[in-house]
Amino acid sequence: MKRKFIFVVGGVMSSVGKGVAAASLGTILKSKGFSVTAIKADPYLNVDAGTMNPTEHGEVFVTVDGVECDQDIGNYERFLDVEILRDNYMTTGRVYESVIHRERNLEYEGKCVEAVPHIPEEIIRRIKLAARKAKADITIVEIGGTIGEYQNMLFFEAIRMMKMETPNDVALVMVSFLPVPSHIGEMKTKPTQNASRELNSYGLQADFILCRASEPIDDKRREKLAVFCNIKPENAISAPDVKSIYDIPINFEKENFGNKILNVLKMRSRESNLSEWKKLAKLAKEESKEVKIGVAGKYFSTGSYVLADSYISVIESIKHAAWWQNLTPKLVWLDTEKYEKDAKTLSELSKLDGVVVPGGFGSRGVEGKILVAQYCREHKIPYFGLCYGMQIATIEFARNVCKMKGANTTEIDPKTKYPVIDIMKDQKTKLARKEYGNTMRLGSYDCKLTPGAISYMAYSSLTANSPASPAGGSKLKAEDDIVISERHRHRYELNNKYRRELEKCGLVIAGVNPERNLVEIIEIKNHPFFVGTQFHPEFGSRPLRPHPLFYDFIQKASDS
Ligand code: GLN
Repeated sequence: MKRKFIFVVGGVMSSVGKGVAAASLGTILKSKGFSVTAIKADPYLNVDAGTMNPTEHGEVFVTVDGVECDQDIGNYERFLDVEILRDNYMTTGRVYESVIHRERNLEYEGKCVEAVPHIPEEIIRRIKLAARKAKADITIVEIGGTIGEYQNMLFFEAIRMMKMETPNDVALVMVSFLPVPSHIGEMKTKPTQNASRELNSYGLQADFILCRASEPIDDKRREKLAVFCNIKPENAISAPDVKSIYDIPINFEKENFGNKILNVLKMRSRESNLSEWKKLAKLAKEESKEVKIGVAGKYFSTGSYVLADSYISVIESIKHAAWWQNLTPKLVWLDTEKYEKDAKTLSELSKLDGVVVPGGFGSRGVEGKILVAQYCREHKIPYFGLCYGMQIATIEFARNVCKMKGANTTEIDPKTKYPVIDIMKDQKTKLARKEYGNTMRLGSYDCKLTPGAISYMAYSSLTANSPASPAGGSKLKAEDDIVISERHRHRYELNNKYRRELEKCGLVIAGVNPERNLVEIIEIKNHPFFVGTQFHPEFGSRPLRPHPLFYDFIQKASDS
């Protein structure tokens, strides 16, 4: 079969759910039996997303092969239930970097190297390479930003060149926003018409317009878009606001979007099968018993909206685990700086069923997080620490149980008497050389679980409890030998010098990386769920396959 490509671009404005739309389209096509992959092309000059603050750009997602990328890659993994690899993510910075590198190596054989055609050619090379490596029948390519921006122009040029070369193998979807101004109460198509005209000026014509709006579009609007944007009326696809993003593939299928796009790509129509998705979407909407989970983050400078974006994989993991247990997750954002100022306010934690302390960097709010860990340990509130959350739980345990006064991570206090969390040796060299980009311990590494521990039980029993097999548990060998593989993003680790002493005080080392003897999971005994992971399990949770640790955490939280 010839490989096909679908480009998804944004008209009018950003943040209308282009990534989720692209991923949902992929879900439909996958359910029709095609092998589908997705690519994100971001227009910024950063080589990857690793150096960006999450409040700027949302969560930094990590692929199994260790690329720090845009959160949309997380959407693709969740919707397509595949592992997206490094070739599926590119930025303008990355593209220029390889063209310049090649130029320095004389690979252009003395030619003048120019923005056009060499940059679009490199973009096309990357797209085709990713499609080939993923053995994809259909590759969805999302272009970051919006039509009309100066900085994503060369990506559009790449689409034009591909479409010229193989017109029947390339489809173009414009995700647009149609406002319904409150003083008129009518949906307006003019901004979309203008975006469409701008797209035409690039030599491109959209095959479909995905109409993001507060409500479905009516026939009158469809006709207008057809006339002014040169599309068939039925190719204006309605995409109204939804309560749960997992409704989107189902809504698209109601409009037969999948077969319409196959038609444009000169492929035969196929039945789709979204029955599992329909089950999930139903569970997501059902009002059932509430499970209240506190999230102790810090990247929420402009209200809960940014927080949600900064911790999207954590939030989605909680939802997946809760829905499949017929629970309605209620998330509560915890401001840990408040606890530092007034420890009495910590008592608000007693109203929660469980607390997650997600990943993080630097000192802001850390003492407050340590207080949260202590409160959860002492009051037997289920606690789930992810990366920094695991390190924080270790520090708290060292200080308050092992009586190591002033114990800390050297990230915060390089001179601490008890560096129970310390920088990894190779990381020290990198930081001394100021090599910050893409230098953390990144991607998937093995972790051998300790029989009898909470996490061991969670990973080994999930197949029985959950609708599907565990994410990250593909290496299950035998009852007594479980090796899992999970994703990482950190520079610091539990200091092995203190391991014995911590264990003597009752800390359970529940998982260790066999190659480097690094502690991967800590737990405490006689507690419903007190687990900290050096890795990020949230990157492995899928809507139809909740992650074993999140599943168990939510179960214990709802039981407590
Ligand atoms: N700052 C910690 C480290 O670098 C934790 C990182 C994280 O939570 N992702 O080790």
